Amino acid sequence: EAKKRGKNGFCEFTPTMAVSKARRLDIEKALSHRNVFDQFHLVYQPIFARNGIEIKGFEALVRWHSPELGVVSPTEFIPIAEESGKILALGEWVCKTACEFIEHSNRQDFFVSLNVTPLQLEQPGFYRWFTKLMQTKGIIPSQIKIEVTESALVSADTQMTESLELFIESDIDVYIDDFGTGHSSLARLKSLPATGLKIDKAFVDDVSHCIKAYRLIKTIAAIAENFQLTVTVEGIESESQLRALEHLYHHQLQGFLLGKPLIHTDAIQLIQIPPTCAQERTFEREPT
Ligand code: C2E
Ligand code: MG
Ligand code: MG
Ligand code: MG
Repeated sequence: EAKKRGKNGFCEFTPTMAVSKARRLDIEKALSHRNVFDQFHLVYQPIFARNGIEIKGFEALVRWHSPELGVVSPTEFIPIAEESGKILALGEWVCKTACEFIEHSNRQDFFVSLNVTPLQLEQPGFYRWFTKLMQTKGIIPSQIKIEVTESALVSADTQMTESLELFIESDIDVYIDDFGTGHSSLARLKSLPATGLKIDKAFVDDVSHCIKAYRLIKTIAAIAENFQLTVTVEGIESESQLRALEHLYHHQLQGFLLGKPLIHTDAIQLIQIPPTCAQERTFEREPT
């Protein structure tokens, strides 16, 4: 019943459909709670320079601990929030919280990368609202990156494209997230409003023991290089993967091997430690 026929007769399966109808309704209801954002917090996963030691910034990732539903994963509730429109308020909360994090750090030498959804970017006032927020918090353009999934860009409308172009013009980088997984055609690369891409974990998983996987990721890196796009490789979990990636064109690395998502205070502590000592420190994992 939940399966819709796509225009070419294939079943289209979206992440939201993996969630049962009852669960969906529970999540929607819990999301409409008056002070629901009191149940949310952000964690910050470090993003490293290609040496794997120097921290360039963090990706902000939202966490929800609902009193009724327990821990709900963003992969489950973000698509639901997007469909119900709740993502606008949630997105605002994420932006504000991340900007406060930067403000509290009292530093300008790192960035926070924010995941934003189409509905946010389709708001004509989003760019102005966000840059004003940055101003009031004393945040400079190099401290913010915007991540948009490749699948979102495929169906980008003019307002969304315009928003992304405004960010790029004001020196705020725009990364295509989950690159290679979103049914985008290579032809679209000509016109995508982006300055960088994040190579999805799916390409990294078997890179160390499968020659075809290695060639695939090498090809993506070469395409990015030709388009002068910044490359972040995501989802690195093992030393052998890290070694396999060594000779590829890339700028930044992210993954559980190098750093797990951290709570606010641990993330701030991490950037205050000089790179050479950073590895000796151990941090508590984010509470789950
Ligand atoms: P994403 O933007 O691709 O974020 C990366 C996801 O991969 C995160 O999952 C992160 O915890 C996980 N990850 C990072 N390194 C590794 C690794 O080495 N191994 C494995 N197995 N996983 C790794 P998370 O936090 O569950 O987020 C899932 C997705 O939810 C994100 O994918 C993003 O699309 C979305 N999301 C998270 N926070 C936000 C947000 O504030 N706003 C929006 N719109 N979406 C968000
Ligand atoms: Mg992301
Ligand atoms: Mg990603
Ligand atoms: Mg992803």
